[in-house]
Amino acid sequence: MIDHRRLGRELDLFASDPLSGAGLPFWLPAGAAARHAVEEYLRELERRAGYQHVHTPPLGRRELFDLSGHLGYFAGDMFPPMRLSADDEFVLRPALCPHHALVYRARGRSYRELPLRVAELGGMYRAERSGVLGGLSRVRAISLNDAHNFCALEQVGAEVAEILGLIGAAHAALGVRIAGYRLSLRGPGEKYVGDEEQWHRAEDLLRAALAGIDHTEAPGEAAFYGPKIDIQVRDAAGREFTLSTIQLDFDKPERFDLSYVDAGGARRRPVMVHRSLVGSMERLFAYLIEEHAGAFPVWYAPVQVVVLPLDDRQGGPAAEFARDCVHAGLRVEVDGAGSLGARIRDAARRRIPYVAVVGPREAAEGRVSLRQRDGRLLDPLPTSAALDLLTAAARPPLG
Ligand SMILES: [Zn+2]
Repeated sequence: MIDHRRLGRELDLFASDPLSGAGLPFWLPAGAAARHAVEEYLRELERRAGYQHVHTPPLGRRELFDLSGHLGYFAGDMFPPMRLSADDEFVLRPALCPHHALVYRARGRSYRELPLRVAELGGMYRAERSGVLGGLSRVRAISLNDAHNFCALEQVGAEVAEILGLIGAAHAALGVRIAGYRLSLRGPGEKYVGDEEQWHRAEDLLRAALAGIDHTEAPGEAAFYGPKIDIQVRDAAGREFTLSTIQLDFDKPERFDLSYVDAGGARRRPVMVHRSLVGSMERLFAYLIEEHAGAFPVWYAPVQVVVLPLDDRQGGPAAEFARDCVHAGLRVEVDGAGSLGARIRDAARRRIPYVAVVGPREAAEGRVSLRQRDGRLLDPLPTSAALDLLTAAARPPLG
């Protein structure tokens, strides 16, 4: 069976070390290159959709998380606070929402600014027990693709619909196969904040957004502050987990006393929509590695093309073509050692999408021969045409 931990080792994507701790893997250059490409794509997708990106720190004072409700409702999943002095305790954050609420209220807001979409690919922490940790799928340090969309109540329906569209675009680009949509609701015996009316209103809004979409309802899977739409995927072992999520929150705007001035000059409370297009980078890649068996789409493949001179005499033209590829934004390597067959096999083992062979004839004519990951050979192309083909293939599908 495909296991992202085994492929992660074979393809040098990530590693971990008992010395640095369980659930704290590190990304090796190949994995980091793929992740970086995905992060850039997400930032651009969000930028085009009107999101504003911020940076906020992964820890904050205890009082911030008292106010947000996390220490009251979520402390069991958090690392214990760190005391610097008698009146100064810090918390590794379990979510980005409290900081984004502070971003919102950093100045006065007008209805003209809404929906205000605050996005960040930021760090957060969960005190997972060591028994459940494994590879990238369950970690203690998490990098979340996150955003909080502050809207007027009457904007929530359209905003959720738009987010569902963005999630669909991201899934198509990344090659995500979803297992289903889930409306996650309150369950018995758990702690939730907010009053009945808020919960009913939020549930009605999410149900309306899911009208016409096949979905299940899951009592007990809501966030402590509100119901959510979860988009589920399955790993190679058949286990289902949440990749993308949209959550409605009437509670945090109250707690943080968020407001905006409406068209009539009155002060009103916004609704906070928490959303993640693809979840955390760790879980996303645990899934993508298995889903693609390591053969990522060209645009986020760690190495997109490997240049193979037939022998030392083509070393110059091969290096020159590789340099052109680097300048065109491609991730490229040159492999000049060993037989051509062995080098082609090695590129296949590493799931590199393109091999560019430079033999004596290609070198003399200023051409390269491209071979695709599926074994298909293209006729030798002038280097500029090959470069155009590769850069087009490597472009993330932003539409
Ligand atoms: Zn949030």
